[in-house]
Amino acid sequence: MSLKGKTALITGSTSGIGLGIAKGLADAGINIVMNGFGDADVIEDNKKDIEDRSVKCIYNGADMTKPDEIEALVKEAEDTFGNVDILVNNAGIQNVQPIDEFPPEKWNAIIDINMNSSFHTIKHALPKMKAAGWGRVINIVSAHGLVASPYKSAYVTAKHGMMGMTKTVALEVAQQNITCNAICPGYVYTKLVENQVADTAKARNMTEDEVKRDVLLAAQWTKKFVTVEQVAGVALFLCSDSAENITGIALPVDGGWTAA
Ligand code: NAD
Repeated sequence: MSLKGKTALITGSTSGIGLGIAKGLADAGINIVMNGFGDADVIEDNKKDIEDRSVKCIYNGADMTKPDEIEALVKEAEDTFGNVDILVNNAGIQNVQPIDEFPPEKWNAIIDINMNSSFHTIKHALPKMKAAGWGRVINIVSAHGLVASPYKSAYVTAKHGMMGMTKTVALEVAQQNITCNAICPGYVYTKLVENQVADTAKARNMTEDEVKRDVLLAAQWTKKFVTVEQVAGVALFLCSDSAENITGIALPVDGGWTAA
């Protein structure tokens, strides 16, 4: 089935992996609902860049910590395009600190944005996906949905939770032509990673170069950062007919990290 003319809602698509997925899906003719924070001019430029791929694109700045805004985001997507055919739960933040020093408000924000928001997007998008008889839910989890690292307690907890949600949703909608899968990237050099290099250096008493070499790429056997284009390519594959019988899985894109 051609993906041309379908609609994808991608949370946190104003930068990094989400923006890469938005562009990758737009290249396949899929209309895009952009979401996330950032400078209004940069968001507008990225929206134009997506529209230049001959698709329609709208932007909604719903805050993923706010269930009522998430409900309104799904509704705007459906009102504009008729349906959310592809839902990519991607919005996420990170904080790197030992658990006994971890600020409770940061814990709550990570659990809300990286995990709870997906409950709300899925809950609101599924009824129309079911009615249409086709859908793809793609959760951008992480290698940290499969294994842990120290000082990332909230993130690892949220990402492991997302794996449970992925499997449960997959079973619930398995007979309705809807799949639900997790992509588990290793380190992709986006803002989220850039920001944690300094914090990790502090927490581990290392230089920033040592963190990149001995912490981030130490886990990645290819010794290469994953690119946003590679994650976007995997997302597009999960939307294809070839992936119709792939559901409830964790698909690592991690340079061998979780194989070791
Ligand atoms: P990023 O910081 O570049 O992008 C995060 C996006 O989330 C941005 O668009 C931001 O505006 C949005 N966002 C943050 N808080 C929000 C909120 N309250 N409401 C709405 N949007 C919000 O980071 P990224 O690296 O592209 O991360 C994207 C996803 O990929 C995250 O879920 C992250 O956990 C996951 N991931 C990243 C890596 C990596 O190495 N970069 C690896 C594995 C998984």
